[in-house]
Amino acid sequence: MPLQLYNTLSNKIEEFQPAENNTVRMYACGPTVYDFGHIGNFRTFVAVDLLRRFLRQSGYQLQHVMNITDVDDKIIRNSAREHKSVQEYTRKYELAFLEDMQTLNLQRPERLVRATEHIAEMAEFIRKLAEKGYAYRTEDGSYYFHIARFPGYGKLSKKDFAGIETGARVDVDEYDKDNARDFALWKAPKEGEAHWESVIGSGRPGWHIECSVMAMKYLGPSFDLHAGGEDLTFPHHENEIAQSEALTGQTFARFWMHVRFLLVEGKKMSKSEGNFFTLRDLLLKGHKPSSIRFLLSSVPYRKQLNFTFQGLEQAAHSVGRLRDFKSRLEMAHLPSGKSEAMQQLAAETRREMRAGLEDDLNTARALAAIFDMVREANTAADRNELKQADKEPLLAALNQFDEIFAVIKDDDAEKIARATEWARAQGLLEQSNLAANLISEEEVERLIAERAAAKKARDFARSDAIRAQLTHAGIVVEDTKDGMRWKRK
Ligand code: AMP
Ligand code: ZN
Repeated sequence: MPLQLYNTLSNKIEEFQPAENNTVRMYACGPTVYDFGHIGNFRTFVAVDLLRRFLRQSGYQLQHVMNITDVDDKIIRNSAREHKSVQEYTRKYELAFLEDMQTLNLQRPERLVRATEHIAEMAEFIRKLAEKGYAYRTEDGSYYFHIARFPGYGKLSKKDFAGIETGARVDVDEYDKDNARDFALWKAPKEGEAHWESVIGSGRPGWHIECSVMAMKYLGPSFDLHAGGEDLTFPHHENEIAQSEALTGQTFARFWMHVRFLLVEGKKMSKSEGNFFTLRDLLLKGHKPSSIRFLLSSVPYRKQLNFTFQGLEQAAHSVGRLRDFKSRLEMAHLPSGKSEAMQQLAAETRREMRAGLEDDLNTARALAAIFDMVREANTAADRNELKQADKEPLLAALNQFDEIFAVIKDDDAEKIARATEWARAQGLLEQSNLAANLISEEEVERLIAERAAAKKARDFARSDAIRAQLTHAGIVVEDTKDGMRWKRK
């Protein structure tokens, strides 16, 4: 059966198939490279990766384009503040993002394209929109899209803009989410800020235009699927549709996939809440990339996912079970022959995993199937009922699972070491808050117990060494009459 996928545009689950031959042409909004990617971003990127891997497993070819937003208000502001060119400023974060992708086993899209390398094409696109009467120029040399001229405005976000105020404009990339305004396609240069020369004068592109231009350049005026986090539905994707369809008169993307926002410990992730984590923060705390990927994949993309440290521990445990099962299968010396029950179990698991993913990428269903298999096969092995010829189909089921979930191969330690090395080279480990984060709670507890034991054994040199190690990591230990207490500095 083909994939049944929820389409934000139609508000329905629909059968997903590429429009032309066997190739899925898809576009996913990529990162804005002004900072390191956080785990919310990675929920979206992991969901798109799961889709990508499932489509490939289903026999499709892919033409998947992802943009790198390397120019926007924040980037211009931050690079000017650091007296760097936009390029110099963004390259560091772009590289970090590519490395983070590898860390999480995200497959590289067929094309990764930078906004700043398509500015001339953006200007040309805007020129054509102006020629057709969809864009207008303001006195300062900026260009805006005239949303009242595009009757379909609001069809993706299902907002009713019947009474749109014509001429009300917004020129910042950070939007008021409920208000429809003519949006900036091109912004006239401001003193001291980066700008480009083009057929429509000097300036820089607004945020939305890059995705229309790059999607159409690499995928054609009409393509199969467009993806991003749920916050992008309005205004970003609504605006992409308006400017693209105004120009071509064709349906821009047939399917729109939006990934629900990640919550952290039940709240929206924000710096002020102290629950804001980049992928790198978690690695430096010793959390494994495989646990993070597993946790982000475990809840279907349209359901609420609440990221907790307890959930992360459970994810590590689940990945461990899969890895243990795989080595058990590989190493076991089993009686020859095969067991009908195990053969059926493997076949049924493979079917159920596919059925789960075909069901709007219901990863929870696929996971339930694989863990049932692991439990039943382990029980059979304990009872000596697992046979030599059962290995192959069970391993094939595990393999089918891991083509999508990509957590079984154990390269976590190398990845954590690489991230730590990188942070040290950047001088980040010296910052006390990061150093404090370096030691996990379990590790602190273990060291404290070891220190107590050393004291009891009157090994004061060892106990002092442990205290110094903890202090260096920003942990304060107090000896009280009830024992030792600790806190982070
Ligand atoms: P940005 O780097 O801000 O352009 O975002 C990159 C991608 O991450 C976009 O598709 C966003 O919609 C998505 N995103 C941002 N925050 C979250 C979050 N908390 N949960 C899920 N996706 C997010
Ligand atoms: Zn975009």
